[in-house]
Amino acid sequence: MQLENRLDSIIKKVRSYHPDPNITQLRDAYEYSRRMHEGQTRKSGEPYMTHPLEVMDIIADLRLDVASLVAGLLHDVVEDCETTVEDIRLRFGEDVAFLVDGVTKLSKFQFNTRREAQAENIRKMIIAMSRDLRVILVKLADRLHNMRTLKYMSESGQKRKSQETMDIYAPLAHRLGLHWVKTELEDLSFRYLYPDAYYDIAEKVASKKRQRQSFIREVISILDDLLSEHGINAEIYGRPKNFWSIYRKMRDQQIEFEQVFDVLAFRIIVDKRPECYESLGLVHNLWKPIPGRFKDYIAIAKPNGYQSLHTSVIGPYQERIEIQIRTHEMHKVAEEGIAAHWMYKEGKAVPDRDDEKFAWLHQLMEEHQDHEDPVEFLESVKIDLFHDEVYVFTPQGDVMSFPSGATCIDFAYSIHTEVGHQCSGAKVNGKMVPLRHQLQNGDICEILTHKNQRPNKDWLSFVKTGRARTKIRKAVRQEQRERSRELGRELLDKELKQHGTNIRAWERSGTLKEAVEKSKYNHVEELLGDIGYGKTQADTVVEKIYPTRKGSGKKKKKDKPSKLGQLWNKLVDRGKTGVVVDGIEDVMVSYAKCCNPVPGDDIIGFVTRGRGLSIHTRDCASVSHLERERQIDVRWSGDTDVPDSARRPVSVRVYCTDKPGLLANISQSFSSAGVNISEAQCVTTDDRRAVNTFEVLVHNRDQLNRAMENIEKIKGVYKVERTAS
Ligand code: MN
Repeated sequence: MQLENRLDSIIKKVRSYHPDPNITQLRDAYEYSRRMHEGQTRKSGEPYMTHPLEVMDIIADLRLDVASLVAGLLHDVVEDCETTVEDIRLRFGEDVAFLVDGVTKLSKFQFNTRREAQAENIRKMIIAMSRDLRVILVKLADRLHNMRTLKYMSESGQKRKSQETMDIYAPLAHRLGLHWVKTELEDLSFRYLYPDAYYDIAEKVASKKRQRQSFIREVISILDDLLSEHGINAEIYGRPKNFWSIYRKMRDQQIEFEQVFDVLAFRIIVDKRPECYESLGLVHNLWKPIPGRFKDYIAIAKPNGYQSLHTSVIGPYQERIEIQIRTHEMHKVAEEGIAAHWMYKEGKAVPDRDDEKFAWLHQLMEEHQDHEDPVEFLESVKIDLFHDEVYVFTPQGDVMSFPSGATCIDFAYSIHTEVGHQCSGAKVNGKMVPLRHQLQNGDICEILTHKNQRPNKDWLSFVKTGRARTKIRKAVRQEQRERSRELGRELLDKELKQHGTNIRAWERSGTLKEAVEKSKYNHVEELLGDIGYGKTQADTVVEKIYPTRKGSGKKKKKDKPSKLGQLWNKLVDRGKTGVVVDGIEDVMVSYAKCCNPVPGDDIIGFVTRGRGLSIHTRDCASVSHLERERQIDVRWSGDTDVPDSARRPVSVRVYCTDKPGLLANISQSFSSAGVNISEAQCVTTDDRRAVNTFEVLVHNRDQLNRAMENIEKIKGVYKVERTAS
């Protein structure tokens, strides 16, 4: 009975601001919730149902819509009772189900709030997870009622909840501009976190209460006379500041309670914006303003939409007092924040379609764009914008933010570069997942490392953060460079041994340094790297020091390339048309004769001794015989528009019957695919079969495949294969 009366009085409150609330649904939700919580009690011993009802009452104080009120009544049924979100969707619709689901998800988290940076991430995460501002508002109402009834909890529970409220929920309320919610949450938390300080201040404020009250009345009547004299219609209020802000002032400024003078705050609420400035002028004329305390939040609103003029003056009896001046409209926003705007929309139509869900928010943004930095405003209510971020827990309970789509590798690199480099596995919510696993909001991620693990080039294809990408690239390049330098050193050493010396002797005598200079390099590493990559040849370097010794004749070749050299130069790729080695430009490249790779083939590079990179197909039989340390990752450049001069030679063998006209058909198939035949060789066998080997020039693998498929279709052809020439 008591509960029903309470419900009636809350419905009355709803009617006072809502033009046409759906009372039937409110009563249905009440009945449903009461049945679900039947038999449950709160720590206070009261029926559990008192809690959802009081949460609903707070939501009514926030003047929210019916869906929010219903969600308030139902916010604990999924968590505590045998009900599903699906059931709520069927009974109360999509909107309510979404809100209840959102609040339930938030309730599952216990936040670890040791550092301010953490707290900020958690606040963002709550906003991101909520996706609808009303979820946060219902959650705040829930938290507020729990804080109001915190005395029934254990002491450790009180401290934990209070800390979380102070770190997370009070700032959230502030961000949403819910001034009264923020101050109430702060004072309630303050009481449990620092009980001694709290009661000390409460007592001191109370002890001077009578004196204070008469002082407040005096100030109000002075201001009232002053303003009405000048034709300004104003409402004026005075009150002590909230305890937490007094305490914070004492703590931050290292002062005693008695020294906190502007414990009193007055509010002047006027009709029109120009009257704010007019009133300010009158106040400053009457009482001396304290320098540095004036703030014009009307001209430049706070990010949460708050507008007001703030000043502190030396009032009657030399008391410092704080005065805030604003219009009724601004006051409404200051007290109710986002909710005030919500109501603005509510009166017209509650958005029910999905795409209209945020229409009110967009309208709100438009309204603000006229007189406020829109970017700054978005900072405070970036509901939609948070959708491209995910928030993930470390095993220690810290929350980290990532762009959505981020993977375990991104997570590993955000912890530490070395953790990223040595990342060998990952667990999400306790289960092993692939490293490319994409993280979801609220996931707990744990990284496994191994000291022999190295960054993998393939990771680049799925990482999302710039940090991980940069670190991986750098490490891969670094490794390849080191490998080429070692190789260069080895090659140079071998060359020197032919001259009866070695690289260590050169180092000791300073000859190496001389050779570096003579070869026009700045550093030894650079020279060795280039020798390793085949960009410079070891014997050329040695000749700079021992020119009198008879070289191998290569010098001559360099001056005037031989026939072979000219052909070589044709085949050599200069980057534009063929192979790209990550992070290295202008590498001397040749294509292995054993497999004749063409663009499109899966390829691998092999660092030759002094002839640059030799390119093989990855499945080429000779690759397995090549030293592992000399293999290097390469890929074809994306350039498909290769000039004719850059076409690659391939041989294709066609087995067919020895039938007149077949050869013509085959050549026709090549040319219709745009492939030029440079040489053809036909061998017939006794059993009227023919084996034709064609040397052709192709642009890429696709083109070659097209031609081969065409030939396969020709009647009389048994088999077509690509062969090593
Ligand atoms: Mn609750």
